[in-house]
Amino acid sequence: MRFSRMATMSKILASHLPSMRTSTRQLSMEAQNIADRLKSSSFFRTQGLIGGKWTDAYDANTLKVNNPATGEIIANVPCMGRKETDDAVSSAYNAFSSWSKLTAAERSKYLRKWYDLLMAHKEELGQLITLEQGKPLKEAIGEVGYGAAFIEFFSEEAKRVYGDIIPATLADRRLLVLKQPVGVVGAITPWNFPLAMITRKVGPALACGCTVVIKPSELTPLTALAATELALQAGIPPGVINVVMGNAPEIGDALLASPQVRKITFTGSTAVGKKLMAGAAGTVKRLSLELGGNAPCIVFDDADLDVAVKGTLAAKFRNSGQTCVCANRVLVQEGIYDKFADALSKAVQSLHVGDGFSEGVVQGPLINEAAVKKVERFIEDAISKGAKVLLGGKRHSLGMTFYEPTVVSDVKNEMLLAREEVFGPVAPLLRFKTEEEAIHIANDTNAGLAAYIFTNNVQRTWRVSEALEYGLVGVNEGIISTEVAPFGGVKQSGLGREGSKYGIDEYLELKYVCLGDMNRK
Ligand code: NAP
Repeated sequence: MRFSRMATMSKILASHLPSMRTSTRQLSMEAQNIADRLKSSSFFRTQGLIGGKWTDAYDANTLKVNNPATGEIIANVPCMGRKETDDAVSSAYNAFSSWSKLTAAERSKYLRKWYDLLMAHKEELGQLITLEQGKPLKEAIGEVGYGAAFIEFFSEEAKRVYGDIIPATLADRRLLVLKQPVGVVGAITPWNFPLAMITRKVGPALACGCTVVIKPSELTPLTALAATELALQAGIPPGVINVVMGNAPEIGDALLASPQVRKITFTGSTAVGKKLMAGAAGTVKRLSLELGGNAPCIVFDDADLDVAVKGTLAAKFRNSGQTCVCANRVLVQEGIYDKFADALSKAVQSLHVGDGFSEGVVQGPLINEAAVKKVERFIEDAISKGAKVLLGGKRHSLGMTFYEPTVVSDVKNEMLLAREEVFGPVAPLLRFKTEEEAIHIANDTNAGLAAYIFTNNVQRTWRVSEALEYGLVGVNEGIISTEVAPFGGVKQSGLGREGSKYGIDEYLELKYVCLGDMNRK
């Protein structure tokens, strides 16, 4: 979108604020209608899944699932704990012996059918994501396509799990390498991508013969349950996928304690990731960790201003700033700083905030009150240390957990905004002079997930991409995730990779087999 048009849009929006409030109330009703329609659909589920049976918590405890845009309760789901998790693990363990023995082609067909069903229900799954997570419907439907693509990709990759034959060191031997599934996998996922964070794990796990116990976030379990119902409709046998939710530490501890669980795959905060890593030591489990980031977005003097603004906008404000790969620090070279700050502020001012079901909305609410309080604390800290708010910097007049898209200038490396993930719609601008300084600031963090650079200098592109201590680098592009490329971090952003041909290795063990006595007749 052109900036002049966006600026005009923002003026129009500003002059219509009161009516925007009214439309929010109407949208709440519309959201309610959508919720009612979804509740009668074939995939709306509000129980956990253990051994192919939809199950309540054994003590009948429940959790409320809210629409973050309105606060309305969408559903009650079971608040499960250790006992349900132990049973889910047993059912996954029992299912493993038959699922792992299917041919790759058979497993591939199940996954392909699941993918087809996910895509056939793209719109409704998108609505469910918007309802429980808050992201704009268009973005939510985009997540369904992205999430489903992992199931499609790994349905194909299932058929390409090749072993090796190694040239033997003795004439009467043959040395083979087999790749075998690790076994039962515990998959713990966050709320910011209620579908894609699950399919990115379950796709490769099922493809190579593992079975899973999924623990979605208590904030967004409905998408996980709907996707699982579609997996059952695709014919994936009982016990291959199990879902428990509720008391997260208790479920986590049960997964960690069980010797039958051979791998934990986790996406979430670095703090919880570290706990799981320590806990996995007890039974020496395999571990994949996709943790928090602190992405630098570096804009050099030689960047194309429009490309840099568009890319930064996408990298920063997607999902209202609530993604692990969101630009967390925008480092801008001094020669372009003022022009960039001005152009970015104009573009940000035009971002339409509102209920995700409303036409044209690109910024939904934050997930909960704690998320808004965190943003407020970071902004206060920055202002108290000399930063300037160019735009936004406060709660949105829509109330609830809506926060104004914000641009802050004169941010320094010691401020919270630069040290930690803000996980909200705030773009902090830091000024730098030289390429060396930019690389130093960018790498001066314990995180190492995504980084972005904007430059038209080819040599610089190579130099800086290689120098950045990050698992992913976007060059002149703000949205870089795809199922065909490896996703994951270095340093304290995690271990292992998801997606792509590399992602399946996380669910495979190598077994060396030595055949002796080959010359005997
Ligand atoms: P979180 O608090 O760590 O929660 C993630 C998951 O862990 C949720 O299912 C949560 O359950 C569960 N959990 C919490 N405490 C646990 C425990 N003691 N044992 C076992 N499980 C436990 O993270 P979040 O706030 O949901 O997600 C935001 C974070 O995820 C950010 O730091 C973001 O950067 C990171 N993230 C990383 C990636 C990546 O690919 N690297 C992708 C997306 C998000 P409940 O929700 O039910 O409490």
